[in-house]
Amino acid sequence: MNHAAAAESLDLASLGGSLIDGGWRAAEERFPTLDPSTGAKLAEVALGRGPEVDAAVAAARAAFEGPWSQMGPGRRREALARLSELTAAAEKDLAQVEALDVGTPVGVARKLTVRAAAKSLSYYASWIDKLYGDVVPVATAQPILDFTLREPVGVVAAIVPWNTPLLFVGSKLGPALACGNTVVVKPSEIAPLSILRWSALCAGAGIPPGVVNVVPGDGETGRLLASHPGVDLVSFTGGSETGPRVAAAAAGKRIALELGGKSPALVFADADLDKAAMAVALGVFGLSGQACAASSRLLVEASVHDALLERIVEVARALAPGDPLDPATSLGPLASERQLRRVEGHVARARTDGARLVTGGERPGGELAGGWFFSPTVFDGVDPGAALAREEVFGPVLAVLSFRDEEEAVALANATSFGLAAGVFARDVSRVLGLARRLRAGTVWVNGYGQIPNQAPFGGVRGSGFGREGGREALETYTQVKNVLIEL
Ligand code: NAD
Repeated sequence: MNHAAAAESLDLASLGGSLIDGGWRAAEERFPTLDPSTGAKLAEVALGRGPEVDAAVAAARAAFEGPWSQMGPGRRREALARLSELTAAAEKDLAQVEALDVGTPVGVARKLTVRAAAKSLSYYASWIDKLYGDVVPVATAQPILDFTLREPVGVVAAIVPWNTPLLFVGSKLGPALACGNTVVVKPSEIAPLSILRWSALCAGAGIPPGVVNVVPGDGETGRLLASHPGVDLVSFTGGSETGPRVAAAAAGKRIALELGGKSPALVFADADLDKAAMAVALGVFGLSGQACAASSRLLVEASVHDALLERIVEVARALAPGDPLDPATSLGPLASERQLRRVEGHVARARTDGARLVTGGERPGGELAGGWFFSPTVFDGVDPGAALAREEVFGPVLAVLSFRDEEEAVALANATSFGLAAGVFARDVSRVLGLARRLRAGTVWVNGYGQIPNQAPFGGVRGSGFGREGGREALETYTQVKNVLIEL
């Protein structure tokens, strides 16, 4: 693993400032960002506080009222399309930065975060000349022309987590910029480098200074940004405990919260078990389990329990963690030591709660011993009331529970405070359609798991948040409607 050489050739140590009004700005305090594969320091990054947040919001406001609005939809579309092309052209480097800073394997990062971000920017660029208002048929005796305008909200604070930083660039900045807003991004303190690196592309795309600003920092930086009076909309993705704190800080503003999950995958006896096993295993072990919609609870019909579990364990054992810079690797480390400790804590608790460890449950040794790696882990016979059946682990740990019939399956599936996603594996069409309605989740995947197309809305219900990213629905998040009434 020659990570030091890779970090040097990518010049990560130079990514230390905040991007404000098109220029790099140092801060009084700095924080280190670490390589989760080795624990080595990659860079010292500016810790945004009041002065940086104030300056970034002021720059975003000035750009919103000035050059970005004046550019008009045609030129904004060209700039966003160009930004998509530049993102795609930088795929290799950006994926390597995520491999080093987040621990995402390069092959996965190329496709899942960088390419997805480029596609999302391009998808939303193509919406720019399709944002229609309505003519409202007002029923009065007097002749009236009433119509609506769909307008940008203003300055958007985009506060994001560390698991897939560039994915959020696409899913938040794509629609925010397409709708004519300006943005201040607050990357996670665990992995700020890929967004900083990416943000340098904005100038080359013809995006005016101040339209995209990046203020790295910690939770306090996020709080300062969310509560800033110059911010009009807070778009937050992160943990379910943090969401309410962000909502409190942002009181009086528009907010969208994309939070955590404990998503169930329901497998019925008539399902294609090979397909279900692969989908569930990749759904929970992919990104080393650090995916909001991870299929972390497997609910399986008792009659196919053993056959399915055998297949899943086979996939889990084949998915050995490795060096994220190696294109052949499909699982990297957890992104931080804190996350590793959290996963280990959940595993220890599951054991004392009486669940049966079927595979994994430990850190790999050898060359990986110095990093925050954890083996794909499966616990069977998990009690529905146990922490492992209810709490988000955000690590490669699958909780397996059995059910006897559809009613029990639905009751188990809905017995959490979350509601991000659910998977159903079954061939019976009427059962599938019924379950799609009854499962409390923002997304239901059927006979597959985890696809999030740009064109489709994605987001949670209940403890998993509200607001939608993706598709036409995101345009509603990032615009407001003005009604114009003309007496004729
Ligand atoms: P986190 O909530 O700890 O942090 C997310 C971001 O919020 C970070 O940038 C952090 O610095 C900032 N923050 C922390 N406290 C804040 C405060 N009081 N005010 C404003 N900002 C604050 O989450 P994390 O550990 O970085 O990410 C993991 C979580 O994110 C998991 O729960 C996961 O499910 C969730 N997630 C959800 C989605 C989704 O689309 N629903 C996607 C990815 C991750």
